[in-house]
Amino acid sequence: MTTIADRLANAQHRIEQAAQISSRNTDEIQLLAVSKTKPNSDILAAYAAGQRRFGENYVQEGESKVKALTPTCPDIEWHFIGPLQSNKTKVIAAHFDWIHTVSREKIAARLNEQRPQEMAPLNICIQINISGEDSKSGATPAQLFELADKVVQMPKLVLRGLMAIPTATSDKQLQKDEFQRLQALYQELQSLYPQVDTLSMGMSNDLEQAIEQGSTMVRIGSAIFGEREKR
Ligand SMILES: *Cc1c(COP(=O)(O)O)cnc(C)c1O
Repeated sequence: MTTIADRLANAQHRIEQAAQISSRNTDEIQLLAVSKTKPNSDILAAYAAGQRRFGENYVQEGESKVKALTPTCPDIEWHFIGPLQSNKTKVIAAHFDWIHTVSREKIAARLNEQRPQEMAPLNICIQINISGEDSKSGATPAQLFELADKVVQMPKLVLRGLMAIPTATSDKQLQKDEFQRLQALYQELQSLYPQVDTLSMGMSNDLEQAIEQGSTMVRIGSAIFGEREKR
């Protein structure tokens, strides 16, 4: 039987191999364990194996996990990676360390206002709609720089980088084009704002390609925790 610890080690090994192929340093690439829909016991198993960064997609589920696990695992870094409506921003501002899915000024402004004073600033990745499909969330590349300029003026937020969910496709060239466009935007953003250090792209099925195109944080769910039930 393979355990969560085994699958976590395997994911780390894939990251190391992909880094090596691209002549990159493994330390530049962080693994975010995506635990959405999975029980706290699975998070604890990954934690016992040394994992400290966890990603959640749903506001209520995320809040209850943070509350339940913080007393025993205070050093978990919690990342919110799901869609966020403006009436739920307060929960995220109060419980999470990062959010990867900011794409509107209104949401950023609310997070800034609602971040408790005693907490460190909330780390922000702007989500980019890299495929350009209407159905996808995220800022367009054209909107990115205006939004970034607003976010960097908000004292309780820190702009850390970009995130995208590319088109689900088996077309390797399309996938590569999207990752490359994202990397180009990331480099442009970094040249404007030196604190930008995070390119959140790559999941269980495409982490190798994402690392090849410069990802600094891969978000891995099913490869660590197994397939999810449909929600
Ligand atoms: C669920 C999810 C992941 C993890 O996907 P896997 O294919 O299970 O690795 C990564 N990023 C986001 C935004 C997700 O919603």
